[in-house]
Amino acid sequence: MRTAAQQARVVVIGAGQAGLSVAWHLQRAGLVAGDDVVVLDRAPGTGGAWQFRWDALRLGLAHRVHDLPGMHEMGLRFDDADRSRPARDVVAEYYRRFEEHHDLRVRRPVAVTSVRRVSAAADTDAGAAAATTSRLVVETRAEDGTVGTIVAEVVVNASGTWGTPFVPWVPGRDVFRGRQLDTTGYRDAADFAGQDVVVVGGGTSGIGFLLELDGVARSTRWFTRRPVVWSEDRALALGAAVAAVEDQDRAARAGRVLPSIVSGTGLPVSRRIRAGLDRGLLRAEPMFTRLDEDGVVTADGEHVHADAVLWATGFRADLRHLAPLQLRTEDGGVVVEDGRSTAEPRLFLAGYGPQASTIGANRAGRRTARQVLTVLAEDAAVAS
Ligand code: FAD
Repeated sequence: MRTAAQQARVVVIGAGQAGLSVAWHLQRAGLVAGDDVVVLDRAPGTGGAWQFRWDALRLGLAHRVHDLPGMHEMGLRFDDADRSRPARDVVAEYYRRFEEHHDLRVRRPVAVTSVRRVSAAADTDAGAAAATTSRLVVETRAEDGTVGTIVAEVVVNASGTWGTPFVPWVPGRDVFRGRQLDTTGYRDAADFAGQDVVVVGGGTSGIGFLLELDGVARSTRWFTRRPVVWSEDRALALGAAVAAVEDQDRAARAGRVLPSIVSGTGLPVSRRIRAGLDRGLLRAEPMFTRLDEDGVVTADGEHVHADAVLWATGFRADLRHLAPLQLRTEDGGVVVEDGRSTAEPRLFLAGYGPQASTIGANRAGRRTARQVLTVLAEDAAVAS
């Protein structure tokens, strides 16, 4: 079934930290949630990608989840939450209370299937406004299969990365007969009880899996494409993190594929990690050269038996629904300056690249909202 085309001033794709932050700032500026600003999310519940994270990722084990703007006035702070609870549950609960308190009227589960430009006078089903000025057309699909169209002056894409885990191609990936899964498929260490597990990836997720599997799996081996750089000095780690965000920004401005944050920063050594290092659990080996039917073959030619290969190899920005806008450069990225697409000025990318952390997404909310309001004011001036 198809519903009649709707109009909105702004469509926000995604109700994670970035999308909610933008929506809240727009509401503060006087736009009406659910009417002027329509927030869509394909996931069933609140919490953005956090709702899908595994049980053992407790709030106290996450890096740090920053409060949404507008949470303090509700007396809500992540720092006051029980750190032993799964981060998934706390974030989902706090975001739900935030959405309800501010009446943000998120529509879910509604997936955005495509965003395209409306060419003047071509889109008869998109409404009169679309025929006179340039607009973006957002196609949606609800859970019951109903498809819809929303014509917007501005689209804020805040779709995160969870939908597009990245798994590198390694020879034999299609030959291995054991279980292969990426970070989004990981639920519980108990699923690997008594198994030989190969973990791939030098980021915090891979390390977390190794620590959780210790004493549960029969064996673990850890492979990374680059040597792991540990960082025991908090000040140095902080400086490196700032440099890594700057790297992300340079890549976004140049339209390159975004580098991984971890590859630039080094991994901070917590007490838990220090214990893992001391007992020899966290010993990264150079990436294996291939998989075979029942394991992997190391660079030295050793065959390592594996029941499961766990790819903790990161994520890419989930921008598939933006394909009709043809934003991809030859270098495989999208050119984004200060959170805005240079190829499509009605499109903002909140939480993208340098903004991809809960604090970055928060800051993006304020800046993006300001820029969106400027576009809306320009549209109003043209229309009058
Ligand atoms: P998300 O939270 O991913 O939200 C995006 C939303 O968009 C989702 O709800 C999704 O359903 C929706 N969506 C996507 N595509 C569509 C579509 N086509 N149509 C409709 N809806 C769509 N950051 C920190 O600051 N601290 C941490 O401790 C931390 N730990 C992390 C641990 C892991 C394992 C990972 C993978 C990341 C972690 N991060 C952490 C990064 C973290 O995910 C981000 O900081 C932040 O939560 C991302 O917010 P976001 O709003 O950009 O994206």
